[in-house]
Amino acid sequence: MKVSVDRDLCTGCELCVETCPDIFKMDGDVAVAYDNNDPVPEDMEDCATEASEGCPVEAIPLEE
Ligand code: SF4
Repeated sequence: MKVSVDRDLCTGCELCVETCPDIFKMDGDVAVAYDNNDPVPEDMEDCATEASEGCPVEAIPLEE
């Protein structure tokens, strides 16, 4: 599984960072996924999925 943040959609609400801080961090006004999470470690897939589903603007596409 891979995750990324669409910077053009992200509103910087920080929800994904709160949900899954090992995968996402803030970069100024937007969230980004850490580079070392490609692929997402297996034990973090659940929180990455939760963050993707919880994003209010659907800015976190998941790739299997
Ligand atoms: S939850 Fe979505 S809108 Fe909020 S910071 Fe994360 S990517 Fe951006």
